Amino acid sequence: MVVVKTIKELKDLLNSFGENRKVGFVPTMGALHAGHVSLIERCVNENEVSVVSIFVNPTQFNDKKDLEKYPRTLDADCKLLEGKGVDIIFAPAVEEMYPEEDKRVFDFSPLDKVMEGKCRPGHFNGVAQIVSKLFDAVNPDRAYFGEKDFQQVAIIKEMVHQLRYDIEIKACPIKREDDGLALSSRNSLLSPEERSQAVNISKALFASKKYADTHTVDETKSYVESLIAESPLLKTEYFTIVDGDTLQDIKNWEDTDFAVGCIAVFCGNIRLIDNIKYKE
Ligand code: AMP
Repeated sequence: MVVVKTIKELKDLLNSFGENRKVGFVPTMGALHAGHVSLIERCVNENEVSVVSIFVNPTQFNDKKDLEKYPRTLDADCKLLEGKGVDIIFAPAVEEMYPEEDKRVFDFSPLDKVMEGKCRPGHFNGVAQIVSKLFDAVNPDRAYFGEKDFQQVAIIKEMVHQLRYDIEIKACPIKREDDGLALSSRNSLLSPEERSQAVNISKALFASKKYADTHTVDETKSYVESLIAESPLLKTEYFTIVDGDTLQDIKNWEDTDFAVGCIAVFCGNIRLIDNIKYKE
């Protein structure tokens, strides 16, 4: 496993592996946890060369404070990946990825007009900027993304289509703590009290799955919101039930074969997201 910081080093190293090797790629912002590791293990299993990027991308943060407090743990991340079969860790500085301002404006409408796109203006434009730059640098055959960021997977697939990348996008299931909390780099920022209430997000989603069998979409939405409201440190930013392909709200369960409930919750000052599939 080699850690490189520049695109030139990355490309030289990739060339040294020779042609006709399948290259798998896992983009991350570091502070790695078992969720990331699940993507990375799948990547290593399915490809001859595996690249993991670690880069906290400033252009996808609409909140400066969120960017400042985002955990950065490169040494621990490299240690965690030792012996896991990763060939290259690409950990560039901001100036390497943005030698000048990236002025590109993407349009993923209507996918980016809802949920995270609505609550975090510019977020997905920043995601598309960095992921396209990383795709250009790594030139992978396959790239791995977590369903924890459900909307992001849809946006990346749309970006691949729009920019005509020949890259297979692999969506990987959410990895959770034993108590159900979705693993997230932001979990490390939670106080013990916040952590103990954060679990009520996934608990509400799991409970709602059963509830949904005998209740309408609107009733299920209200049920989740009321369960979350029982925890004083939790504040729901949105909970919505969407068609998993179009990401647009559904009114009735019959509207789709693929129904997903997506939630964003502030736990104290830390913003957490999660989702659950009701029908697939
Ligand atoms: P991040 O470092 O948060 O940008 O995440 C890098 C990749 O790991 C993204 O594709 C995420 O969706 C994925 N990921 C983050 N947390 C989880 C999780 N709990 N389970 C599965 N994938 C995850």
